[in-house]
Amino acid sequence: MDVEMLYLNGTFMPLSEGRVHVEDRGFQLGDGVYEVIKVMNGRLVWLEDHLERLDRNLAEVRLSEAAWGHRLGTILPELVVRSGVDHGSVYVQVTRGYAPREFVFPQPPHPTVLAYARSRPGPSVEEILAGTALHPVEDLRWARCDIKSTNLLAAVLAKEEARSAGADEALFVGSDGVVREGGSSNVFAFLDGVIRTHPLNNRILGGITRKHVLEMARKKGYTVDERAFTIDEVFDATGPCEVFTAATTRDVMPVVKIGRRTVGNGRPGRVTLTLLDAVRHEQALSVGLEPPPSLL
Ligand code: PMP
Repeated sequence: MDVEMLYLNGTFMPLSEGRVHVEDRGFQLGDGVYEVIKVMNGRLVWLEDHLERLDRNLAEVRLSEAAWGHRLGTILPELVVRSGVDHGSVYVQVTRGYAPREFVFPQPPHPTVLAYARSRPGPSVEEILAGTALHPVEDLRWARCDIKSTNLLAAVLAKEEARSAGADEALFVGSDGVVREGGSSNVFAFLDGVIRTHPLNNRILGGITRKHVLEMARKKGYTVDERAFTIDEVFDATGPCEVFTAATTRDVMPVVKIGRRTVGNGRPGRVTLTLLDAVRHEQALSVGLEPPPSLL
């Protein structure tokens, strides 16, 4: 079996041997940011996009200096090779590190930079075609959801509530009824012939998958509008309507249920599967694999 390898502050080691201080601010204060990157064929998918987002997030929380001296563009591929992961993901986390517990920044800081790789199969074709169920919850998160912060308690509670309700993913809805995003995914709707999704602002994470899906949709000639939609619009639709999620570890997933109600005809729609085909095609080519057969 592959050994799960960890990169921790400059050293590679088996994941089980990694130790972080009890007073690490990531642990005590959620004072850190993270990334999750997909691995296919032993290669990191859309790595540049993820590193760019990490840099932006580090700057937002005034942690840019933490990553200096950690050349993640070469460290992460090396981590994947050392771990022998063929298909799975790499998790990266940067925190403001160890310091006696205080809210204000420690001087000098001792940041923690870590990453580990894990084998994990993506959703099977059967799972994709069965579709996914979303459970709507009021969005009680903080007002900087554009930052990929390790402070994930609201998402933990929402996803657990979704699981208890028999759903696969939480759906964060604003008090105005607007669909923001999933617990760990962006959400799209195909409504009245237009692909809609919440615009990039402080209420959602700018997903890397979201970005690529929008690019592919435009390339394929769909009309795209980064304009939020409501759950009512989905259920009041008179024409064909589709909903799907987009996230690194689950690509594009057709949504067949929201709460107790069935979306559209309860089966993955043509637009969703066209975009998923496009994602799978582009990802396969980017890691040197044959594109998989179409799902349509
Ligand atoms: N929104 C949230 C809240 C997330 O946690 C994630 C997953 N990291 C996403 C959207 C999807 O982003 P990405 O496509 O970069 O995985």
